[in-house]
Amino acid sequence: MALTNLDPILSLSKRRGFVFQSSEIYGGLNGCWDYGPLGVELLRNVKEAWWKAMTFRDDIEGIDASILMHPRVWDASGHTAQFSDPMIDNKTSKSRHRADNLIEDFIDRLRKKGKNNDADRIAVRLSAVEELSDYHAIIMEEQIPDPVSGTTDWTEVRNFNLMFKTFLGPVADDSAAIYLRPETAQGIFVNFKNVMDSARQKPPFGIAQIGKSFRNEINTKNFLFRTREFEQMEMQFFIKPGSETEWFEYWREQRWQWFLSLGMKSDSLRRKPHEKLAHYAAAAEDIEYLFPFGWGEIEGIHSRTDFDLGKHQEFSGKKLEYVDTVTGERYTPYVIETAVGASRSFMAFLCNAFDEEETSGEDGKTDKRTVLRFHPYLAPLKVAVFPLVNKDGMPEKATALYNDLQKNFKATYDTSGAVGRRYRRQDEIGTPFCVTIDGQTLTDDTVTIRERDTMQQVRLPISNVKPYLLEKLAL
Ligand code: ATP
Repeated sequence: MALTNLDPILSLSKRRGFVFQSSEIYGGLNGCWDYGPLGVELLRNVKEAWWKAMTFRDDIEGIDASILMHPRVWDASGHTAQFSDPMIDNKTSKSRHRADNLIEDFIDRLRKKGKNNDADRIAVRLSAVEELSDYHAIIMEEQIPDPVSGTTDWTEVRNFNLMFKTFLGPVADDSAAIYLRPETAQGIFVNFKNVMDSARQKPPFGIAQIGKSFRNEINTKNFLFRTREFEQMEMQFFIKPGSETEWFEYWREQRWQWFLSLGMKSDSLRRKPHEKLAHYAAAAEDIEYLFPFGWGEIEGIHSRTDFDLGKHQEFSGKKLEYVDTVTGERYTPYVIETAVGASRSFMAFLCNAFDEEETSGEDGKTDKRTVLRFHPYLAPLKVAVFPLVNKDGMPEKATALYNDLQKNFKATYDTSGAVGRRYRRQDEIGTPFCVTIDGQTLTDDTVTIRERDTMQQVRLPISNVKPYLLEKLAL
């Protein structure tokens, strides 16, 4: 069942404890979300799967750099001067918009009304924008109305820097100004030499990092898709100049396969090469996911030449080169970057897993079940243990098994209601296996294991449950 809007995801998230609004009892904080007991498990599993894929290999090292960095880092990277979005205000409603998004949303509305010629014409104008005034010209000439007031009473378009500014130490003046990092990549670039030397690596090799990033987005929307605080999983792969085409191909394929290997449906993913490349970039492609609100980027794969290391050499005055001690060859490595949002891909995995189906219930009656069909590695809980009834020695057997399984897996124990209802509760949060201790267990020490997607049960000796699960839950 394809989702047509985010409402079922939002309500399930809150009801079952995946995601809550930040500071909800105070009315919430725009663009910030909290992960609940199940959400934190899913997020950890997404990050763990990425960490395993990226760093359990000889040629990639992990790091965890600080969020606060020397302010010159952002001068070198170009963020101080250029990390901004075009912003426009409506004078009547005082509502504030990202100018490019305002135009894109207008184009979408035209398409929905079947006005494809107008939509195409404006899309061409948008792709040709070079200056802020070009956005303004489109908005005024195409009479794009404010979604709030309906008027076209617009200000000029201004640049708005997305970095959150704060102060280091007790004096709040400009000499102490620093930023919350807007991306994790720069922590990798500035540690390039530290890692290469300490880990005895040489190109081709990569550095991977998972961590929080902060962007003061003009408009946040679509749940976890665009938030002001989020997590990224980034990897910079340092290579010899001249090998960038081959490594770009390698990484775009690896990253595509990663999503498929975790159960992402291939018709919900697409590759989107960048039409406009940054002046230093040799190639760039996004992986997009078909969210209920349309296609959206979840990961970018970028061939960045020696731009980043080159800039940090220029601004820091420190050499960031690879030198071959035998041949004397020296060069500033080129970089292939893979940059994926942990929170955005969390949301993609959640949407991808969501399903509602008509099924004949365990009692034979037709029933609607909501099921999160997560890849077992991503599922927040791996196994639920139920005593069929809360007497006759079944709870004792069930708790003994539960305690044992908890040593290996995130597990849960449920005694309340009919077993069919207990299955449904687990289906709704994506638990792949449910183990039931029943009357037969008391005579022959066997249990049933019921699988979430097929709803089929197998009967196994209790002693085989753990090996069975270990095999099924491996990545
Ligand atoms: P967008 O065009 O959507 O703003 P971007 O191209 O600026 O994204 P990158 O700087 O390439 O994004 O960041 C890499 C990844 O980080 C994105 O693919 C996305 O998954 C994630 N990301 C970026 N901005 C946000 C945000 N505000 N909220 C959640 N995730 C984000």
